[in-house]
Amino acid sequence: KSASSNNFIKTIVAEDLAAGRVTEVVTRFPPEPNGYLHIGHAKSICLNFELADEFKGRTNLRFDDTNPVKEDVEYVESIKRDVQWLGFEWDGLFFASDYFGQMYDKALLLIRKGLAYVDDQSVDQIRENRGTLTEPGVESPYRNRSVEENLDLFERMRKGEFANGEKVLRAKIDMASPNVNLRDPVIYRIVHAHHHNTGDAWCIYPMYAFAHPLEDAIEGVTHSICTLEFEDQRPFYDWVVEHCETEAKPRQYEFNRLNLTNTVMSKRKLKQLVDEKVVDGWDDPRMPTISGLRRKGYTPEAIRAFCREIGVAKSYGVVDERMLEHFIREDLKLKAPRTMAVLRPLKVVITNYPEGETEWLEAENNSENEEMGTRRIPFSREIYIEQDDFMEVPPPKYFRLFPGNEVRLKHAYFIKCEEVVKNDAGEVVELRCTYDPETKSGSGFSGRKVKGTIHWVEASQAVPATFRLYEPLIRDEDEGEDSSFLERINPNSLETLEGFVEPGMKDAAGQDKFQFFRHGYFNVDPKDSAPGRPVFNRIVSLKSSFEV
Ligand code: ATP
Ligand code: MG
Ligand code: MG
Repeated sequence: KSASSNNFIKTIVAEDLAAGRVTEVVTRFPPEPNGYLHIGHAKSICLNFELADEFKGRTNLRFDDTNPVKEDVEYVESIKRDVQWLGFEWDGLFFASDYFGQMYDKALLLIRKGLAYVDDQSVDQIRENRGTLTEPGVESPYRNRSVEENLDLFERMRKGEFANGEKVLRAKIDMASPNVNLRDPVIYRIVHAHHHNTGDAWCIYPMYAFAHPLEDAIEGVTHSICTLEFEDQRPFYDWVVEHCETEAKPRQYEFNRLNLTNTVMSKRKLKQLVDEKVVDGWDDPRMPTISGLRRKGYTPEAIRAFCREIGVAKSYGVVDERMLEHFIREDLKLKAPRTMAVLRPLKVVITNYPEGETEWLEAENNSENEEMGTRRIPFSREIYIEQDDFMEVPPPKYFRLFPGNEVRLKHAYFIKCEEVVKNDAGEVVELRCTYDPETKSGSGFSGRKVKGTIHWVEASQAVPATFRLYEPLIRDEDEGEDSSFLERINPNSLETLEGFVEPGMKDAAGQDKFQFFRHGYFNVDPKDSAPGRPVFNRIVSLKSSFEV
């Protein structure tokens, strides 16, 4: 299906342009800088930027930083990096906090129009008096203060005369409205806290629902796209735009947020995983953050293709995480060199191969993409193979190595297992094999066939490497009635192995990606790798039963 067939907002934009309701599309991506972005945010980023791109409009990156307590410049920087890495360029870079003055003026305007009042009730009282879906709310005893008194009190709130929670400013709408959000919502509160951008200039801060439509209006945003939870807020969004007499008249549209199986998707929860050191930072490859996916080895292309495929709708759903994996396989299939790595090494001595000799074999870099050329790999008397490519007592249909059996070494020769060497504990520590020089790969040998092909790395020049294999950090199936996500943490989410790669990969640099024969796609970890000592994160295994 085409991208446009699964994006209803695109249809709206096209109609708005055709009808002349807007002359240019302006969207924005408005993260709160209180954590790192996750794959859910990627969906919103792709939606907003691609929509504007398609209609030759503009997209702003706007930090929705109206809550001083949780926000931090570290998050601001990480968000910029992640949006750029995904491949998008913002037109304007803005901070909602830069509009505090204008928002304050709009609050004054509402007070003067008799549409806002200072309430002395506590937050708890206000919540209690809001009513329910079936019961109307109770009007505050302070609701009918005069404009003068409200102006005076609001000014004194701004000057810092009151403590946190002592007073709030509320919109005066309708305590009996069937939409609870219209029952005199709080629009300003007192927070004596240092703000990452405005410092100590303010001790009153606008509430999100009041600030957001003003931010959109100030920037001339035409289509303000948010997730479905905000649908009930739309009447208040429109109320603010109307009564604050903004010049631009932005409109809000809602779409379904992305949920993935086996994944928690909330900055608050992800922050908890970081703070409690369940993971090694926001960019731990097990995290669904954009930085974690990048470090795991995901590419921007794969993430964008995934976002396009899942589409934009109004219905709630959970996307199978294997669909994301499908897109990274597709992206790397023809791009990543296919090399050999031994993750759990077992030494093999080829007894009839001349001692001290090395030959260089030609190996194709990608059997599905000839343009990637070939490389040369060494072969000699001692190699490493995978431990589980040998079984002393093979089950039926086991075609790899066992005593007396012959297999093909990828890119090399047939070898036959002649002898098994064990340590005192009875563990297999080495195999003694013979090879047949007639069977060299590419020689056209057809004398006999073998059923198994295994991979290997020549021992004397092998590069020691660390491999990290991942499982989901959180597992849905462990979900209990009242278990928090912290109780669903998979204790086996990370397995670390020490093995070897081909010598040509000695200088693999951070973020280089490979397909290791039979093991899947791996990324060179940009933080933990050292020169000559790479660490590989497994991005995804080779096959999945999942079909898009
Ligand atoms: P979280 O609950 O994870 O902190 P948020 O919505 O509070 O998410 P914001 O920083 O406010 O995070 O989000 C910025 C934008 O990203 C918003 O427009 C929001 O709708 C969108 N967004 C957040 N999570 C998702 C998601 N899972 N799927 C799609 N869009 C999302
Ligand atoms: Mg949030
Ligand atoms: Mg939010």
